[in-house]
Amino acid sequence: MSDFFQIDALCGSARTSRLRTAHSDVETPVFMPVGTVATVKGVPQETLEELGVEILLANTYHLFLRPGTETIRKLGGLHRFMSWERAVLTDSGGYQVFSLSDLRKLREEGVEFRSHLDGALHFLSPETATAAQIALGADIIMAFDECTEYPADREHARESMEMTVRWAERCKRYFEEHKEEVPWKSVVGGRWSVASSDPAFANDQRLTTNDQHLFGIVQGGMHAELRRESAERTVEIGFRGYAIGGLSVGEPRTLTREMVEATLPHLPQGAPRYLMGVGTPDEIVEYAALGIDMMDCVLPTRAARHGLLYTSEGKLAIKNARFAQDDGPLDPRCGCRVCARYSRAYLRHLYNSGETLAAVLNTIHNLAFYLDTMRQVRQSIKLGHLEAFLSEVRSRSLNSSAQGEDPA
Ligand SMILES: [Zn+2]
Repeated sequence: MSDFFQIDALCGSARTSRLRTAHSDVETPVFMPVGTVATVKGVPQETLEELGVEILLANTYHLFLRPGTETIRKLGGLHRFMSWERAVLTDSGGYQVFSLSDLRKLREEGVEFRSHLDGALHFLSPETATAAQIALGADIIMAFDECTEYPADREHARESMEMTVRWAERCKRYFEEHKEEVPWKSVVGGRWSVASSDPAFANDQRLTTNDQHLFGIVQGGMHAELRRESAERTVEIGFRGYAIGGLSVGEPRTLTREMVEATLPHLPQGAPRYLMGVGTPDEIVEYAALGIDMMDCVLPTRAARHGLLYTSEGKLAIKNARFAQDDGPLDPRCGCRVCARYSRAYLRHLYNSGETLAAVLNTIHNLAFYLDTMRQVRQSIKLGHLEAFLSEVRSRSLNSSAQGEDPA
């Protein structure tokens, strides 16, 4: 087993592990908050540290367009630019190119697209997307893939999956030739000059392993046998970890789970498995139980900005009139600073008044809830009690299913 990934405990198919990245250790199963443009909307970095966030996700597509990945490289890389000394994962930009931009031309070489910001023409390929991620300097970076649209027939899903495999080979080749160009590489063994207020670095454990880690991505649409083939061929190329991509793209949730179950047996036990773009609090527990190690989703942060809050009693919409005179905390079982200080009545008032603070406080609570859920998952795995926790989560989810759909 590598230095990078060490399994600590097993419980059924689930496991807890430690990812040892250049900037910090990450305990898994982990939920990674999404910091699209190098910020988790509305939440300052010190609050993320206080919440116990060990790894953040940032989007290459957005940073490539603004402020530009070369600008960030010149500023010392993403960690230094955003003053975040813990781990960062960047996606490859593939998903955003296909979902956000006015797609011009997809060909073997790469994708020509127009920026959703100003219509300017850009080009991303396995090589340029990998170069952009080396410039950003995240600890974990992703191969450039084609996110197969949904629905896609078998023939199209196969062509798309095969291109992703060829692109994965090109990403790996480029990465191996250029990985020394990462912006923080030159200070490994030394120190950077960012003043750290982060207590996690008191012992100066950072930069214990000094490479970025490139992950491959499994595609294959909603076809189990293509998922299997994609997994096998991606593993054959050889990556530090494997992601399951192209899910949570509008398909029914039972199908998402089916595809994850079709993929997992073909991924190596000794490497991290990352399920991209998932999910609700009960889904992240279910997938951790299946053996997924890493997940990310905009749901807790986006829902928070829409006044939708996840609690131990289920999901609630804070604008609801029944909270107008409710002096109690948002979630009596939550230990976050929002629940410790503010009432439901006040949070409802802030939200209904369109105050900025509503988004800030709601986001802090939802992230606290997600992170705490994963903490309980890890604890349950270590104690061998994951089934019991899973039943508790399932009954909670039944309670809240009557309260409306997720805004994903
Ligand atoms: Zn809370």
